Amino acid sequence: MRRNLRHATTTIREKRERAVAEVPDWERLRDRGAAIKDATLSDLAEQLLTLEASVTRAGGTVHWARDAEEARTIVADLVQGHGSDEVIKVKSIATDEIELNAALEQRGIHVTETDLAELIVQLAGDTPSHILVPAIHKNRAEIRALFQRTLGAELDTDEPARLAEVARLYLREKFLTTRVAVSGANFAVAESGTVCVVESEGNGRMCVTLPEVLITVMGIEKVLPRWADIAPFLQLLPRSSTAERMNPYTSFWSGVTPGDGPQAFHLVLLDAGRTDVLADPVGRQTLRCIRCSACLNVCPVYERTGGHAYGSVYPGPIGAILTPQLLHLENDNANTLPWASSLCGACYDACPVKINIPEVLISLRGQVTAAKPLDVEGVAMKTAAWLFAEPHRFEGAIRLARLGQGPLVKHGAIHALPGLLGGWTGTRDLPALPPKSFRELWRDRVNGEQA
Ligand code: SF4
Repeated sequence: MRRNLRHATTTIREKRERAVAEVPDWERLRDRGAAIKDATLSDLAEQLLTLEASVTRAGGTVHWARDAEEARTIVADLVQGHGSDEVIKVKSIATDEIELNAALEQRGIHVTETDLAELIVQLAGDTPSHILVPAIHKNRAEIRALFQRTLGAELDTDEPARLAEVARLYLREKFLTTRVAVSGANFAVAESGTVCVVESEGNGRMCVTLPEVLITVMGIEKVLPRWADIAPFLQLLPRSSTAERMNPYTSFWSGVTPGDGPQAFHLVLLDAGRTDVLADPVGRQTLRCIRCSACLNVCPVYERTGGHAYGSVYPGPIGAILTPQLLHLENDNANTLPWASSLCGACYDACPVKINIPEVLISLRGQVTAAKPLDVEGVAMKTAAWLFAEPHRFEGAIRLARLGQGPLVKHGAIHALPGLLGGWTGTRDLPALPPKSFRELWRDRVNGEQA
């Protein structure tokens, strides 16, 4: 698994660097993307109401979901309300976040993922391990065996073209016979009610045009005020994610058009913790994220642990800051994620919308630590912080320690400290404190020169 991952992330990383180097004003584009997102987030409620009015005017229906449970119920009710027990899906991390597939299956609605990698994950009963390449942990031989086992495919090779053909033949039937599709959204334009999905395979285009009913589940942070605001993101996103100059398929739709495409359109606006993220002055920049996955591909921790180690649909650096915030810092596993980083800053450098991930990580570490009940280690750390905060306190503590160390010092070193401190000397000796500290020696020298 680690070999697959290293190979894939290294390849994508190198291609991305070349694609980004082609754009002379890349830094200005990043600034522009960040500024548009920040301006939208500061006016989010107004933009969402404008979006609702525009979608309604264009013949669609907007639904508001406060949490995952509400979103799941809305989608399941809509599918059954349209008389269907089957849906096809465009790759959507928001629907993975709310565990929509399992909820639909529980209500007797069969789900087919149409993105090749998502289909592989679904057929394997697995979970995604990368935002962009959900089956990055699987190699071609494993996929061939999976298709043979689950689709009954006769495959004498694991050539990518043959594997894709098997999936294409299976999915084509689904596209032509399934009446309801579920998608996510990369962006939505408030002024026109237009929703946008970008992808590489064309499966998304099939899903948003062929079925009679289209249901889109979108995080509320994906709204943009104007058409013109999309332009920078259509340059930032493909180069940062797939290292392409533009996405092979960019689909836009606004409500419904009689006689053309789905004749019913539902937009589910998902909060699920996002407004709380918005309320955090440091954490709110997380909502700029356009899910490009560039931060995953440069992260030394992600490269070694893989996506599943994060226990969330959002792996890597973005997962380490988004998941704990969406879960309101109330989940013990998610609360360890801000420590899954060396704080090297590679993610910040790569992020096309300049999310300062290390800054958010440090802020979250502080919040998690502050919320913990004080244990022995916590008391020791607080005491140390108090001592280190003022030079006179620190020097006083050193003088006391020098007096107290006497019985413990043997041959110039302390070999065994008492109590909990014994953990330190269990594997190493502690040099004894010298008779005078550097500061004291320096003071003596300065005083001697002046005398
Ligand atoms: S945090 Fe930045 S680099 Fe990471 S997925 Fe989001 S937009 Fe991309």
